[in-house]
Amino acid sequence: MSNAEKIKVRTPIVEIDGDEMTRVLWKMIKDKLILPYLDVELIYFDLHLKKRDETDDRITLEAAEAIKNYGVGVKCATITPNGARVKEYGLKQEWKSPNGTIRAALDGTVFRKPIMVKNVKPSVTLWKKPIIIGRHAYGDVYKNQEILVPGPGKGEIVFTDAQGNETRKLIQEFKGPGVLQGVHNTDRSIRSFAKACMEYALDQKVDLWFGAKDTISKIYDARFKTVFEEVFEKDYRKRFEEAGITFFYTLIDDAVARIMRSEGGVLWACKNYDGDVMSDMLASAFGSLAMMTSVLVSPEGLFEYEAAHGTVQKHYYKHLRGESTSTNSVASIFAWTGAIRKRGELDGTPEVCEFADRLEKVILETIESGIMTGDLARLSEPKPEKVYLSEEWIDAVRSRLDQEIRG
Ligand code: NAP
Ligand code: MG
Repeated sequence: MSNAEKIKVRTPIVEIDGDEMTRVLWKMIKDKLILPYLDVELIYFDLHLKKRDETDDRITLEAAEAIKNYGVGVKCATITPNGARVKEYGLKQEWKSPNGTIRAALDGTVFRKPIMVKNVKPSVTLWKKPIIIGRHAYGDVYKNQEILVPGPGKGEIVFTDAQGNETRKLIQEFKGPGVLQGVHNTDRSIRSFAKACMEYALDQKVDLWFGAKDTISKIYDARFKTVFEEVFEKDYRKRFEEAGITFFYTLIDDAVARIMRSEGGVLWACKNYDGDVMSDMLASAFGSLAMMTSVLVSPEGLFEYEAAHGTVQKHYYKHLRGESTSTNSVASIFAWTGAIRKRGELDGTPEVCEFADRLEKVILETIESGIMTGDLARLSEPKPEKVYLSEEWIDAVRSRLDQEIRG
């Protein structure tokens, strides 16, 4: 298509490139499925681990700033370095997780949603619709302080206010060795979390459930419950009623039991740790990690879309050895379509949203017609005749998309 025939995207999208196998797929997706059809300006940030190292990780902060300026970003999976990666890439230091950095900069909440196809059934047979997880991404045990208690003594928690007044509580009178942990959260962060969940429930037109443990944690978890209820009553009750959706709070164990008996189609808001654990449970119960999308939503209405999986390191090493891989690019493509649709919604350009819808439809039809990569072939009923390689699968989508769009 000439540029004049392409669909014009009015406002730029922030593109954040990443590492390993997903970086290889990223370029194919962009070159074969996006740029041939869209006339879009991409504000590009290369978060390849080497680039983060060269810039002392400034590039990650710059990418987050760009999302603040433009509103919508799409991100490839990136390596979060550990000791082994420091050696592998000769890094100056163990840089922090880019996702953590971007999340902190945007004060965002992460929502994960499985992509369902007819030939891959969830292992929970009652689930007919996606279950979306909203994970609070700040505080609790992820920002804790811990003490390895060596022997007898007093474990206490202390708060000193701005005037120097102390509030002190005894946690445990230790008779021998043990462990001690301090965690926190802030009203501001909990409120942002509640708002982001309520906005996203409205966006997706699904009921919102929130589970915590306020019967045991009568101050900490109870605070979450209270803040959610306050935010709901103040700004959302009416909008939920108009949209025909509901919000309810229940104990986390009851929420788990209800989820297992539901048919899906809900947004399940989880505290940080619950969300970490439950999103992996949901991803594997819905099928493949490669079929889980993820979006970071900030309370100001900024959006960053990505795949929920990592850089697929093992496949990348095969790729480097010159072997062919069968890596699934669905979640990465849905990151692109998610960003493109949101851009279209914000710009008021329905033809842009329509392109995203069409690409997603073609992907689902391709898989449902038996054309899929190895991760899905293992789960699919009926079994496909062959397993598609990474690029071969993208090419199959491309030719169907061409038919769909050019007729
Ligand atoms: P991973 O990339 O999620 O892959 C784990 C395994 O899951 C793969 O070996 C593969 O299983 C399967 N898998 C995941 N995505 C797949 C796909 N698209 N197609 C087919 N199979 C897929 O996790 P990892 O290999 O443990 O982590 C690699 C790097 O990713 C780490 O450095 C980590 O820091 C980073 N990471 C980044 C993000 C992010 O940027 N959002 C998230 C998580 C991890 P088989 O080998 O059995 O085929
Ligand atoms: Mg996890």
